Amino acid sequence: MQITINQSLLTLLEGDITEQDTDAIVNAANKSLLGGGGVDGAIHRAGGPAILEECRKLGGCETGDAKITGGGNMKAAHVIHTVGPVYGGGHHDEAMKLASCYRRSLEVASENGIRSIAFPSISTGAYRYPIDEAARMALAAVIEYLNSHTDITEVRFVLFGGNAFSAYCKALREMRE
Ligand code: ADP
Repeated sequence: MQITINQSLLTLLEGDITEQDTDAIVNAANKSLLGGGGVDGAIHRAGGPAILEECRKLGGCETGDAKITGGGNMKAAHVIHTVGPVYGGGHHDEAMKLASCYRRSLEVASENGIRSIAFPSISTGAYRYPIDEAARMALAAVIEYLNSHTDITEVRFVLFGGNAFSAYCKALREMRE
């Protein structure tokens, strides 16, 4: 599924983020930035040890913030590491923190001249954010950014598995009705 927002492409696809050819891919990391499971593990495996070496110098990352490294052996030249909120029922500013992950990642991309970027579904794995709610927040945050910035030409959501992909397609269709 692909739509145009203010001259930029917003794409939803099912796939593996480590294989994307965008300028940057986003990692759903943890605060230490020293590696983990899920998409974080996949990115460090595909990118090789150079990414972890760079991460060690960053001193971690707060929830909702984002930091950049190179992409190691992957096609994407950059990895933007962001830390999603752990879902605790919805009363701990999770929505605001999740939106902040997308906004800060896009700001870091803009600051670094990145024009195309791929996101995973942040917080919906080990951090247990309900997928339908996370999809709405993610799409709203990205659409808001694209409506006010023209430097990013493509934002691609790379959803792992059919369940995540359908949830994002449904959320996008509902938002456009
Ligand atoms: P978090 O800790 O933020 O919840 P996870 O990595 O556990 O991060 O999960 C985030 C999302 O990333 C989940 O929906 C998971 O299915 C997905 N994911 C896992 N591996 C990949 C991959 N290689 N490419 C894209 N998405 C992935």
